[in-house]
Amino acid sequence: MSLIPDVPPRPSNRAAPAPDFAWPAGKRCAVFNSFDVDSESAWIAHDVTNVDRLVTMSFGGYEARVGVPKILEYLRSIELKSTFFIPGWVVEAHPKMCEAIVKDGHEVGHHGYLHKRPDPGDFEQDVEEVDRALEALKRVLGVKPVGYRAPSGENYDGLLKHLRDRGILYSSSWRDDIRPYRHRLRDGSDGPIELPVNMSFDDWLYGLSNRYSPRPMFPKEHVLSIWNGELDQTREWGGLVTMVLHPQVTGRPMRLGIFRDFIARARGFGDVWLPTGEAIARHFMAAEKLETYKPAN
Ligand SMILES: [Zn+2]
Repeated sequence: MSLIPDVPPRPSNRAAPAPDFAWPAGKRCAVFNSFDVDSESAWIAHDVTNVDRLVTMSFGGYEARVGVPKILEYLRSIELKSTFFIPGWVVEAHPKMCEAIVKDGHEVGHHGYLHKRPDPGDFEQDVEEVDRALEALKRVLGVKPVGYRAPSGENYDGLLKHLRDRGILYSSSWRDDIRPYRHRLRDGSDGPIELPVNMSFDDWLYGLSNRYSPRPMFPKEHVLSIWNGELDQTREWGGLVTMVLHPQVTGRPMRLGIFRDFIARARGFGDVWLPTGEAIARHFMAAEKLETYKPAN
């Protein structure tokens, strides 16, 4: 009897390769600037007893008090629409903050209820996270989201199917491509579209790592060096840059400047598309329907 676990040797992702389609209006690449508005939920998900640790909670509380208003003010000033993935608990805890996001015309995406990290062993709980958040977004904001980003970046076949059946058109969590593609579920049916994430654009790695890690924060020059370099090469490849920004990080005074400088440079090229996630997903779906559109296999 073998001591090696019986894991069939095949790719974990059954999706076809990313199809080759043009970005709209002659654009060369796309930058999907998106925010995960975790507020206190990220810290509660880390340890539920944190709820009474008020200084730990205050990292997340920064978002409603300062981070989100400052980001909204900046986005208004440059007339840029963005996507905000918000957990249902945050929508209920900070309705005014979330209403301001909707009022400014930004897209609101699904980000779980209490930011629980999905796990294949927890299907029933994960379904409750999805459905309770859908109810909260509808009741408080009047929003029915079409995008989903997995809290703490995990997902699996059964949950992806449930999300699709609840009307989720796109996911933005996988790390395995630089172009959008369509998921294929294990029953052979089509899943949501994937807008894959570039982990180099997760601001948490650079700007908020020291509460549970001894690593120092990264200065502006280091972050811009990574972000600009990634964009330059992605632009040559005709790909998608998906940013994963958190208002408790990028809403900090100096860090908003990093985002501002990156966006200004990206816009300066004149051929970089800066849409919401929904706009990318709908462009992908339109491309799928064109007669000239040929899936990669
Ligand atoms: Zn999150």
